[in-house]
Amino acid sequence: MELNFTITQKNPASRYINVTLQLQNVNQKRLTLLLPRWRPGRYEMGHFSKNIQNFRALDSKGKQMLVMKNNAYTWEIFNDNSDTTVLVEYNYYANEYNAGACFANEDILYFNPVHLLMNIAPTNDHQKTKYIIRLDIPKHYKIITSLKVIKNTITSYDYDELLDSPIIATPYVQSFSYKIDEYKFYVHHIDLHQKYIDFNKLKPDFEKFTKQILRFWGNAPFKEYHFIIHSLPYSYYHGVEHLKNTVIVIGPHHQLMNKLYDELLGIASHELFHAWNIKTIRPKQMFPYNYYTENYSELGFIYEGFTTYYGDKLLWQSGVFSTEQFFRCINERLNRHYLNGGKYSQSLLNSSIDTWVDGYVNIAPHKKVSIYDEGCILA
Ligand SMILES: [Zn+2]
Repeated sequence: MELNFTITQKNPASRYINVTLQLQNVNQKRLTLLLPRWRPGRYEMGHFSKNIQNFRALDSKGKQMLVMKNNAYTWEIFNDNSDTTVLVEYNYYANEYNAGACFANEDILYFNPVHLLMNIAPTNDHQKTKYIIRLDIPKHYKIITSLKVIKNTITSYDYDELLDSPIIATPYVQSFSYKIDEYKFYVHHIDLHQKYIDFNKLKPDFEKFTKQILRFWGNAPFKEYHFIIHSLPYSYYHGVEHLKNTVIVIGPHHQLMNKLYDELLGIASHELFHAWNIKTIRPKQMFPYNYYTENYSELGFIYEGFTTYYGDKLLWQSGVFSTEQFFRCINERLNRHYLNGGKYSQSLLNSSIDTWVDGYVNIAPHKKVSIYDEGCILA
């Protein structure tokens, strides 16, 4: 089976990304397309199908086919005439500018494939499926991704890798690279105004903590790694880890190299550490990831808390953070620990399970503990 996606923006101001999916070598009378319900890195349901608009399927003659939904994340296509080619079209509303979501307008096309690239059921048959993603974008746009791109086209046989690889196309990007041992690192800075970034300051610091993290682990699960930094004009702080890249969204951009600089380094180091701790080594309940249901684990304090501790500690050991800066990070965690009555209510293990219901929001006061804070203190 071959899944041939084309991604474009017919009307960029609408914030809709237009997706066409051509299915070739079809041999089923019923085709089921599935969209992930959550994304690795955020252990709660994302319900990405809420952004899917105008879904339809056409046969090889262009005739609309019957489509039924049995639940919020599957689309069943009735291929009664046994067509070998089916064209699916849908739009994705991309209006959430954070490190794990999608945003598209006149200046940028940015998406995390886990939000909008559907897969065909059964999904355990990955090896035989070929995924092609063609980006139909303006000529002057640059493409940023850790996937291999040839003439605006990405080819993959690995759905997991595809979902783990955000894709950005924009003219508003500047990049630099450096090498540590045999590993190559890229730093991309995306902003309408490049005047707020100072690569001369950034580069030596990134080199130092990268080297320290590599020394800590010995070797890396990648050959190339991409730090993808979006600077926004308003206050923001978010990072998402992947095996071969991270997306960081931070702002306000005019504070990037001063007030926010420690935070930028903190997220970058944390997310790089995740390339090992969660992307390579992770609870067996998440191996492989099941994108269609909760992946419960009690070990959130290891994959988030230990990452928080070592992210900061290795910044300190690399000389990028002073002792005071490192202690400030630890002090912040201790403060939150002492002030949170949730430690008398729910264990760390249960709070890890419950990220799926309240891990990223405060609903009931003093009900839970933070896997980040407690895990960091434990480490
Ligand atoms: Zn993390």
